[in-house]
Amino acid sequence: MRQARATKGGSDVVAIQGLIERLQRDYAARRPRSRALYSRALERLPGGNSRTQLYFYPFPFYASNASGAQLTDVDGLTYLDFVNNYTSLVHGHRGHDLADMLAPHVSRGTAFGAPTELELDLADEICSRVTSVEQIRFANSGTEATLYALQTARAFTGRDIIVKVEGGYHGGHDSVQVSVRRWSNDGLGIPEVGVSSAMRRQTHVIPFNDVDAASRKLRSLGNEVAAVIVEPVMGAAGAIPATQAFLTELRLLTEEVGALLIFDEVLTLRLAYGGAQELYNVQPDLTAMGKIIGGGFPIGAFGGRAEIMEVSDPRRAGMLSHSGTFNGNPIAMAAGLFALHELTRDRIVDINARGERMRRHVSKAAAEANVAITASGLGSLLQLHGGTEPPHDFRDALSRPRELVQAAFWILLAEGVFTTPGRTSLNVSTAVGDVDQARVHAALERVMEELGSAVG
Ligand code: PMP
Repeated sequence: MRQARATKGGSDVVAIQGLIERLQRDYAARRPRSRALYSRALERLPGGNSRTQLYFYPFPFYASNASGAQLTDVDGLTYLDFVNNYTSLVHGHRGHDLADMLAPHVSRGTAFGAPTELELDLADEICSRVTSVEQIRFANSGTEATLYALQTARAFTGRDIIVKVEGGYHGGHDSVQVSVRRWSNDGLGIPEVGVSSAMRRQTHVIPFNDVDAASRKLRSLGNEVAAVIVEPVMGAAGAIPATQAFLTELRLLTEEVGALLIFDEVLTLRLAYGGAQELYNVQPDLTAMGKIIGGGFPIGAFGGRAEIMEVSDPRRAGMLSHSGTFNGNPIAMAAGLFALHELTRDRIVDINARGERMRRHVSKAAAEANVAITASGLGSLLQLHGGTEPPHDFRDALSRPRELVQAAFWILLAEGVFTTPGRTSLNVSTAVGDVDQARVHAALERVMEELGSAVG
């Protein structure tokens, strides 16, 4: 078998850098309006930005409008959208339908300091799909969902320590902003910039998919652990699915030490009707959710066994106070219900199969062009990596050569396919049809041809 070309040799790296720089120059030249908006943004927003991952050099394009699987920028260029607002738009852009559906709700009032029936409807819908979730509370983002899930775990167990996975992203709050982008070898967490150094002892870290390390850590901390929080498929770390053994073992170990198991399904709920926990057949104690359950609007939710969720029952003395001006917002509830009703089992099967076909196509096109790029992920979530096999954990993903995958982002963008900058990850929405899929496959072939000839 031929050895796929990596970019080890200095001349290959220079060639790929040259290709990226040429594509960046073409990109900038074709987007004068986005460039002007970015210059304006620099005056008022640090780095022109309120959402770190949206920045990329030389400047991000500014969105104008979108419909279905198509996104158009302010310079009139269109893209097939495989970012879908970082997976939250599971049906792609449903602006027209949503406007019709939401209009009566908006005209009734956009927010009240009183609960609405819509909150109960969305709670019923989610609880009937995700069997481990008997009770649920709503919030406004995935960050809030994991924050309150962890507080709930602390309140329920009376313990302090959280165990998370190295490279795991669970939002922006202190307890989980630990060893997200960095690691140490002592099993203690490394607080990210701006995070309290106290987190170094409060949040412990285990490598993903390493059953032995998890069991050593949990047995040594024993009854100090309030919760283990884990993504069934790591998102930001590189679309890396958990092994069955890892999640099964975490379930057993948490039971053994009396800690709660929290699945962060903010990203993975889309993978099966009952979330990734249905696929793995592992029932967590609590689940954090977000993204798709808001139908395009800001949302978060956390839920689980009723005896645990009861810690925030306001009728109880010493309850956990969970409040938020926009919790259970009726517009987000209505949009979320609309999205979930339309996310049938058949549609989930369809987008997962499309993701799987894309992964296979990446492997095939890369092998044919002798380029060392591979695709990781599960179902409708995928990401490109350097190498010929998908990574199994965060350190593995981080150790891969990055140049080819960065170049792939730029070539795909030039071909009118929008993937996430920095990661070159894709997610498939139900708006993607066979014609779109064929376009992406053709664009992926173009990526491999260009990279093959640049390093060939
Ligand atoms: N958990 C996971 C697994 C996520 O992927 C994200 C966001 N990408 C979050 C939590 C945080 O969600 P939000 O951005 O809505 O705060």
